[in-house]
Amino acid sequence: MRMPDVNGHFGEFGGRYVPETLMALLLDLEKDFSLCWKDPSFRKEFRFYLEEYAGRPTRLYYAERLSRQLKTLKVYLKREDLLHTGAHKVNNTLGQILVARRMGKKRIIAETGAGQHGVATATVCALFGLKCVVYMGSEDVKRQALNVVRMKLMGADVVPVESGSKTLKDAMNEAIRDWVTNVRDTYYLIGTVAGPHPYPYMVREFQSVIGIEARKQFLQKEKKLPDYLVACVGGGSNAMGLFYPFHQDKKVHIIGVEAAGHGLHSGAHSAAITAGSPGVLHGCKSALLQDENGQVSIAHSVAAGLDYPGVGPEHAYFNDTGIAEYVGVTDVEAIEALKVLSRTEGIIPALESAHAIAYLPKLARKVKGKKTVILCLSGRGDKDMGTISEVLGA
Ligand SMILES: *Cc1c(COP(=O)(O)O)cnc(C)c1O
Repeated sequence: MRMPDVNGHFGEFGGRYVPETLMALLLDLEKDFSLCWKDPSFRKEFRFYLEEYAGRPTRLYYAERLSRQLKTLKVYLKREDLLHTGAHKVNNTLGQILVARRMGKKRIIAETGAGQHGVATATVCALFGLKCVVYMGSEDVKRQALNVVRMKLMGADVVPVESGSKTLKDAMNEAIRDWVTNVRDTYYLIGTVAGPHPYPYMVREFQSVIGIEARKQFLQKEKKLPDYLVACVGGGSNAMGLFYPFHQDKKVHIIGVEAAGHGLHSGAHSAAITAGSPGVLHGCKSALLQDENGQVSIAHSVAAGLDYPGVGPEHAYFNDTGIAEYVGVTDVEAIEALKVLSRTEGIIPALESAHAIAYLPKLARKVKGKKTVILCLSGRGDKDMGTISEVLGA
């Protein structure tokens, strides 16, 4: 069966857990997105911006020195880090802004945690001359000052959010509040495969360009499909983008890597699937970090982009059905992996992507014979140099 179903369910997950006032908006968006997605002229426009502006297709690069070190794995990196703005997020913001334009919206709002999605949204708003308002927890505004400067340079208004824990989940609540009050001219641009239907589905479709390209490139190079796919999972958009075009290939093993922070039993991590339970957050049912009373827990990861207590509903479904397997990697392991990739390949990965790299030695020890892997290198590490120098004391 094709997922999601008509009400946006992936098995028991997904759906639209929203107040009445948002329902009409979501139904409109669902209809408008599906018209766009069926329209060859929309597809052509989307492809034009992905290629000419963002720099697609990205390379599928054989990491020879890294592979030699791992012995049993032949690793290909899908180089999303080489895209404009330095990560995969622009695939989604370009897709959604084209939908917003077709809907005649003049004002774009977004939530951001570390600021990466805020920057990717401010970027496409500047590109099309649309007004951009980004909600960001006031704690994050302080922690991610450079991204605030970037957004402002590109003309966005950054609104600090003082409620709750003053981080991403509060920013998302505030963005939803804005959306309800400014329905007519405003489009809410969500940054990952989470939120109420149709967002998880729409963002998956936009990010699937990663897996569609990687599949074709791998077949060309190796004349077969890969044995493994590995990607980091925050909300889950880069992972779903790689995974989805392979999800019916029974022989391809799919592995999502969550942030285990200080450890899965430490209470300080972001592993919603491996250490959470089913619950509702931001309009959809999925795996969630919560206490025994259903209060959403505070997530932790050294990688700001993985620091979210929920995860996209389709990942919860992939986990339940065994389509994919989910594992955890700690802060310490991710930092070590960042160093390894830097030294073996001259590529400094984002701390998020380093989580996926960190799983490779564990996988290398488990496999028999020589296996092939496509790993989604979701972003570059430039943004993390402050954190790295703090951690390494350098
Ligand atoms: C935001 C971000 C992520 C996490 O988001 P997903 O939706 O899980 O892909 C991963 N890597 C990078 C580089 C990011 O900026």
